[in-house]
Amino acid sequence: MLATTTSLNTTRSQEIFAAAQKLMPGGVSSLIRAFRSVGGQPIVFDRVAGAYAWDVDGNQYIDYVGSWGPAICGHAHPVVTAALKEAIAKGTSFGAPCELENILAEMVIKAVPSIEMIRFVNSGTEACMAVLRLMRAFTGREKVIKFEGCYHGHADMFLVKAGSGVATLGLPDSPGVPKSVTSNTLTAPYNDLAAVKALFEENPHQIAGVILEPVVGNAGFIPPATGFLEGLRQLTQEHGALLVFDEVMTGFRIAYGGAQEKFGVTPDLTTLGKIIGGGLPVGAYGGRQEIMSTVAPAGPVYQAGTLSGNPLAMTARIKTLELLQQPGAYEQLDQITKRLTERLLQVAQATGHAACGGQISGMFGFFFNEGPVHNYEDAQRSDLNKFARFHRGMLEQGIYLAPSQFEAGFTSLAHTEADIDRTLEAARIVLSNL
Ligand SMILES: *Cc1c(COP(=O)(O)O)cnc(C)c1O
Repeated sequence: MLATTTSLNTTRSQEIFAAAQKLMPGGVSSLIRAFRSVGGQPIVFDRVAGAYAWDVDGNQYIDYVGSWGPAICGHAHPVVTAALKEAIAKGTSFGAPCELENILAEMVIKAVPSIEMIRFVNSGTEACMAVLRLMRAFTGREKVIKFEGCYHGHADMFLVKAGSGVATLGLPDSPGVPKSVTSNTLTAPYNDLAAVKALFEENPHQIAGVILEPVVGNAGFIPPATGFLEGLRQLTQEHGALLVFDEVMTGFRIAYGGAQEKFGVTPDLTTLGKIIGGGLPVGAYGGRQEIMSTVAPAGPVYQAGTLSGNPLAMTARIKTLELLQQPGAYEQLDQITKRLTERLLQVAQATGHAACGGQISGMFGFFFNEGPVHNYEDAQRSDLNKFARFHRGMLEQGIYLAPSQFEAGFTSLAHTEADIDRTLEAARIVLSNL
């Protein structure tokens, strides 16, 4: 089914990956990296800098994955790495309060409209797990609504219709997740307010809240329809439920204050990850003071973490956010990404391939599908075989795209117009030959 001929020399990548498969399940530490949905062998990276990645065979790629979002200033930004060198000399982890936590907390509280108080954790998954407990504790209700194709990390109760990783493997769910755990997770199609309204009516006074990706990235790139976020805000308020934006991907990505700033809808709670880590393992959750004050030790809702708030992660985050505060940063991301997506769709059309897509700031996506794509079901009508061949072709042209049709792409402040134009030229060659 897949084009396996390659002009790239990937001998070392193949050797390392073959060895890895005997050591780690599927040869990877996170499943999407294994290239299962696009076939062929994954590329083993040696180093990254700016907009580029180099593999262990010495091939260079323009990188549109950016470590799945964190590399928004470009990989290994000299300001971030210099600050990390200084910080590392003082130790890698304190396990005690450190002033850097205050500095970062203030920056995030100032930036993100819903966040009046914050708790730092180590990953997006952790943030989402903690926020779920908090939603339930605060409302005294157990059911939550999530949307098909939205991913909120790999905790049991969220592994229902959970987007990319799961979609890519064709697993509707995961073995090992007890029915009793997911029985309180209700799902609705994205962008479908009527379905959410019906769930509230069918489960009166039982729904703790609604959690969603305010712009979906884990089923491919799907923006919210006009009025969808506002509608959810209104419905949750009417029913005494909480609204939670999972901004692990969109936070500091589609605007400095995330989707809530961009769309002017303020949720009760927000989860963050990816970008605020500046490339170190990171997550955070925050929201209204009244709710956050119930988190231990201020309140009874348990949550803790040995490495949480560690000084290296705090340093990388502070420096990354400082870089993002520079005037014009988001306009630059928007311009470069618009150039990429608009022209990519033109190239697809000119070469006779049905495609649709879009972008907001430095987050983008496209589907081999007539469109429009409003939800996960629409996304699934894409030509996955074509995407796989396109992906492999682009790789051979030195363009590193997310290895799944159901993942958003990311640009960075280090991507130049010349990088974009090279990418478009590569796409023209690949699409002409598909
Ligand atoms: C990546 C992601 C997560 C999980 O974050 P990890 O750091 O991988 O645990 C949760 N929610 C969204 C929206 C994400 O994109």
